[in-house]
Amino acid sequence: MKSYCIVIQVNDDNNKSLAVLREVFGYRSFRGHQSDIIDHVAGGGDALVLMPTGSGKSLCYQIPALLREGMGVVVSPLIALMQDQVAALGELGVRAAFLNSTLSGAQAAEVESRARRGELDLLYVAPERLLTGRCLELLGSSRLALLAIDEAHCVSQWGHDFRPEYLQLDVLRERFPGVPRVALTATADEQTRAEILERLQLGEARAFISSFDRPNIRYRIVEKNDARTQLREFIGGEHAGEAGIVYCLSRKKVEETAAFLSSHGIGALAYHAGMDAGARRRHQERFQREDGLVMVATIAFGMGIDKPDVRFVAHLDLPRSIEGYYQESGRAGRDGSPADAWMAYGLQDVVQLRRMIDQSEAGEEQKRIQASKLDAMLGLCEAAECRRVRLLGYFGEAAEPCGNCDNCLDPPATFDATLAARQLLSCVYRTGQRFGALHVIDVLRGEASAKVAQRGHDGLSTFGIGAERSSREWRAIARQCIALGLLEVDHESYGALRLTAGSRAVLKGERSVSLRAWREPKRSRRSGGAQDALSGGEQALFERLRAWRLEAARRHGVPAYVILHDATLREIARARPQSLDALRGISGLGAKKLEAYGAELIGLAARAES
Ligand code: ADP
Ligand code: ZN
Repeated sequence: MKSYCIVIQVNDDNNKSLAVLREVFGYRSFRGHQSDIIDHVAGGGDALVLMPTGSGKSLCYQIPALLREGMGVVVSPLIALMQDQVAALGELGVRAAFLNSTLSGAQAAEVESRARRGELDLLYVAPERLLTGRCLELLGSSRLALLAIDEAHCVSQWGHDFRPEYLQLDVLRERFPGVPRVALTATADEQTRAEILERLQLGEARAFISSFDRPNIRYRIVEKNDARTQLREFIGGEHAGEAGIVYCLSRKKVEETAAFLSSHGIGALAYHAGMDAGARRRHQERFQREDGLVMVATIAFGMGIDKPDVRFVAHLDLPRSIEGYYQESGRAGRDGSPADAWMAYGLQDVVQLRRMIDQSEAGEEQKRIQASKLDAMLGLCEAAECRRVRLLGYFGEAAEPCGNCDNCLDPPATFDATLAARQLLSCVYRTGQRFGALHVIDVLRGEASAKVAQRGHDGLSTFGIGAERSSREWRAIARQCIALGLLEVDHESYGALRLTAGSRAVLKGERSVSLRAWREPKRSRRSGGAQDALSGGEQALFERLRAWRLEAARRHGVPAYVILHDATLREIARARPQSLDALRGISGLGAKKLEAYGAELIGLAARAES
């Protein structure tokens, strides 16, 4: 093993990787397939690594690069992220640098000569830079430990992150035969996987495919009532002072929601494609670096968000597909601590998205696919069983009820809705299948609105037959009937409810229908499990540690989490270590960080005691 700034002493060959994990990174044990991947790559094998966001892909190339002779080269399209990774590695005492367009000529030349002198453990390179003759020549004259291709799904021409330069990365195999290559991605589907193997010529690579479950994320979907107030109560009640992302469908709503939160004392920033590039960059930068900001964004805020301590992702509008929902909500809790994926949705969302699909330029086949993805999303929202089982099932993975979603924690009651469904369907039929849910419900409830009178719907046999249910109850029933395929939202006339092939059996009394009972939405309350809760004294110390961290981050010019993660601060607050030895047992403190911050941390913990 080569020695870098830190000398690692291990006698047992097999435990070298574990020693690096503990000494350099300060973590106790490997997660999932990490250990197998690291052994395989450190031994010279090629690998394809599929792991969900936040599960620790970086270590899968960082540790082998430290174990093998020479420099590890990491290709990544995400420039901001590269910078932070290099800063974080520097904090750990690892010799890392990057080459991308943000460097001046002189700075780049300096990095190049460090690489030539064999003074780098890891070099991060943007793909367009890598493909230049100059860079290939540099790598050719350096000793290479491995080649890592991060965000490998960027080779896929069908995906939305496609990068043409990625198609040329097969050059790496030709130029550097014998150097192990590892491709990494969090994109799960079969087609992308096959494309990566083919285009990067990784036919011999061993594939390591992890479960895509994110057990620390708690899924919750609530009925939309007054969405902004619901959001404010959710954040105020459960995530005050914590970082989060709020997704909205439109730019206008992004702006309005950010202003609304700010006016209620919640630090919020906006992000959407209509803003100029400079403002977007500033907001992203502040979100990444400061503690506890809320980013309100359209889905333009996406790839490259590497903030590990995002405590919640909230959706104020229904995402278009489960794929999108999973990717967006997956930006919460990358550090493995408890996090929330929270969504408020209502029937209007379905109507709006249907309309957007219908009015888009896409071809008929494309529209059909989009509509069926939306149906699957709606099915998830209306599910009465475990959300996680549904989500993972959608990606072809079997799972047991999780105990960490709204439906598991507070199972919804179901009721025999056969009669109610029949009343609703027949009212849709009697009103001519030309009206939206609100009008149909008015007729059912016997509301003598102007529109009801004007259409003469107060004379229908279904007028007033559902008066005993509230309008919200009826909306919940309508949504579930749509999710079950008993009703559909008309593609042509906006939002009109129409019968389907499935309606007939219900209308004829041949099919019974069971639905989840409507209930008053609960007020938000702190939901974090026992592992999250700190006592009063511990909380005070935690806050002091955060303030200290912010100061340290300023001094070093890096984001706060690069200094230490929340989980590490929380563990310190709980254990109140009195000595370096006691501190050594805390996850997230490697040798270099102990040396740099150990004394200060012990000082802070001791001061809190007195
Ligand atoms: P990914 O690239 O897969 O999204 P990262 O490599 O950024 O994930 O890792 C996510 C977080 O988990 C990082 O903060 C990382 O330091 C931490 N992490 C990774 N592996 C471990 C481990 N074995 N033990 C504790 N924390 C880990
Ligand atoms: Zn569950």
